[in-house]
Amino acid sequence: MADLHRTPDTSDPRRHLQRLARNLRLRLEGEGRAGLAAVGRAGPLAPVVAVAPVADTAPAAPVPEPDGAAAGPTPEARAAEAVAQELADLADAPLEPAAPDEPSDRQEPPPVVHVKGPGLFDMASPDLEGGISREEALERIVREVAECTQCAELAPARTHTVPGQGSPQARLMFIGEGPGADEDAQGLAFVGRAGQLLTKMIEAIGMTREEVFIANIVKCRPPGNRRPMPDECANCAPFLARQIEILRPKVIVALGGTAAQYLLQTHDGITRLRGRFYPYAGSKLMPTFHPAFVLRNYTPDTRKKVYDDLLKAKAELVS
Ligand code: URA
Repeated sequence: MADLHRTPDTSDPRRHLQRLARNLRLRLEGEGRAGLAAVGRAGPLAPVVAVAPVADTAPAAPVPEPDGAAAGPTPEARAAEAVAQELADLADAPLEPAAPDEPSDRQEPPPVVHVKGPGLFDMASPDLEGGISREEALERIVREVAECTQCAELAPARTHTVPGQGSPQARLMFIGEGPGADEDAQGLAFVGRAGQLLTKMIEAIGMTREEVFIANIVKCRPPGNRRPMPDECANCAPFLARQIEILRPKVIVALGGTAAQYLLQTHDGITRLRGRFYPYAGSKLMPTFHPAFVLRNYTPDTRKKVYDDLLKAKAELVS
């Protein structure tokens, strides 16, 4: 597990990042392991380097307000408005951890500073699910997760493991932090209040839960909804890495700071990270606010930011 608290050795983050990326590319090319197709097939894997955000390729399209505050009520805006109305019922949700840590009026996005250390794919088993269908490969992970007892605190306390669920053909994958009480009770990811909001958010961009895949960094509930510990994330990392590798989603949406920081191996907060794509294991990763955060910061501004992020994610699917 990467030590996210270690300060990267650099006085110039941009140059440091460039050097890391160049070294990694050279090493991967030298070993014939560059690109997602090569990931996991040739022994222990290199860290996924979180490099600078992917530049927007298309000019920004006018984005309808999720709360109907903007002009131009397109059908999508009207649908979002209806959804936003329903969301108001969820606004009294209990607090969960996750909070932006920085002001959101930043002009120039700074580069993501990569924290040197093993990333998600370092923990991936090179023994891939060769020769079996995506469905079977994902099912195999479900069974393995159910038998996992690696985390001394989480395993004995769980009611159910929560491996994640969704379409084996999903091109859009959501990754949250870890199961809460409702998820632990049902064995399904994002089925509590935050999950209901996630469903509405998915529907607001014209998609359904059934056509995406939803998972978490850790597959067992951390007690009291605390954040997962580094060793717990590390124990679970191979399962998530394999899910990503099986699905090869075009876009991954990281929900909240814990997921985004762990996947991108960065100290940067979600407020700084969100709203743009980062290359990630052959996919494009879009960090956005966790739905639990949206529930307790139920402002038009927060909702619009998440809505905009998800619209970008959806647009990327068809690009
Ligand atoms: N929060 C998460 O991060 N994941 C869930 O599955 C539920 C709540």
